[in-house]
Amino acid sequence: MTTTATDGPPDAATEARGVDLDELRALVGRSSPFNSARDPVNEPMIRHWCDVLGEENPVYTDAGAAAASAFGGIVAPPAMLDVWDKPGLPQRRDPDNPQSAALTVLDHHGFTSTVAVNSELEFARFLRPGELVHSTLTLEDVSDEKHTGLGVGHFVTSRIRYLVGDEMVGSVLFRVLKFRPGTGRPADPAPERAAARDPDPAKRPRPAINRDNQYFWDGARDHELRIQTCNRCGAKFFPPTPRCSECGGFDMGFTVASGRATLYSFAVPHHPQADGFRYPVLVGLVELEEGTRLVSNIVGCTREHLSVGMPLEVCWLDSHPALVDGADDSRGPISLPQFRPARVPRRETTRAVADVEVGEPLPLDAIPLTTTLIVGGALMTRDYFDGHHDRDMAVRRGSKDVFMNIHTTLGLVERYISDWAGPEAVWRALRVRLGAPNYPYDTMTMSGRVDAVDTASGAVTIAFRGTNQLGDHVSGTAELLLPGGRAYAEAVGAR
Ligand code: ZN
Repeated sequence: MTTTATDGPPDAATEARGVDLDELRALVGRSSPFNSARDPVNEPMIRHWCDVLGEENPVYTDAGAAAASAFGGIVAPPAMLDVWDKPGLPQRRDPDNPQSAALTVLDHHGFTSTVAVNSELEFARFLRPGELVHSTLTLEDVSDEKHTGLGVGHFVTSRIRYLVGDEMVGSVLFRVLKFRPGTGRPADPAPERAAARDPDPAKRPRPAINRDNQYFWDGARDHELRIQTCNRCGAKFFPPTPRCSECGGFDMGFTVASGRATLYSFAVPHHPQADGFRYPVLVGLVELEEGTRLVSNIVGCTREHLSVGMPLEVCWLDSHPALVDGADDSRGPISLPQFRPARVPRRETTRAVADVEVGEPLPLDAIPLTTTLIVGGALMTRDYFDGHHDRDMAVRRGSKDVFMNIHTTLGLVERYISDWAGPEAVWRALRVRLGAPNYPYDTMTMSGRVDAVDTASGAVTIAFRGTNQLGDHVSGTAELLLPGGRAYAEAVGAR
């Protein structure tokens, strides 16, 4: 299923006809026959999931660490719940499935575009390798015709129940909007956006490369951040200088910076605007851990995320041919160092509920959105909808590029929260609302805060948000159980 944009037939007629709601209402309350997963829960699929998402929680992949954990063995990432029963490449709409039937009716009435709106996963327990999941879907609701920003359409809500044998192991509520293409309200560009110059990074002025700074740009092409260093006294300089101002020496070399830095100061210039930048542009005075400061762009976050002293890490704006048209010319490609919020290392030990406070912020996590992540994420979740892996088809369906599927988003949210909570947190629920699509060459920056803590049970609720250049891609809440609470002890004791 798609995260966003159209997945109806690209050339479907979009004639405006009313829907016979009775035909749809007759489907509400119906359930599909049980659908059995093709394969049991298995370690290769779990490893593939972890590889693509950068998920490093050892309880999913490291048999020794998992055996020594509160879980006593390998468990599956909870957000994989609705991956196990996916059909894979032979995608088809099952006529006995009331959701498919409702979507087909809506397609025939011109509501050919689909956008996933909500997904709410609830987990009774972790799944383990060897368990065979089966599922049944119930169509819970088809809304009256609604006028939304995307277009005129109907919300279709389904709930899928997952079982192992007779035991209910979890459920997923899934809501999509089926809408008629071209009936949405025209986008109302923010005044700042409307006035913006062409943000194509190829339009940026190219650096003037000379003998004194050649080493810097040569390094940038290899993603090496080089700091000019006096070979005689070791003093470091930025910008480069022909002669050491400390010892007077002319023998200048360079050292390679780690890329770790902090934000020393920042400015958000609004005028005058130049082509090649996306406004508001964030300009930081960045202090490298080696001590040198340089001026650079701060990316992967908004003005609201910035604070003096925040940890940053270098990232690179490359003249990738798909990103910077014409940059691969006779003057050669250029890479520019930029800085984004540094990813905080994953916790090795699990937080105790007593140590968590309402209002506590989670660290930022700026996740680069690459075509590889989007395509890899779709395929690892057995989602072969072409808009997630085929740029030509995605464009033909009205998207600007391939876009991330919902399961990849769920996996990234799960990684983000579990990196903060620790490896043995027990997941109870993950509820998301989807917004702007995740396209390649953007960054999704995760932020969050603790919304509720119940020390007695160990239950903690986290509110989170994942933002890209287009706005909020995902927002929602996660419910976890943490050590120290009664419900946590029951959950890990009852395995
Ligand atoms: Zn010197």
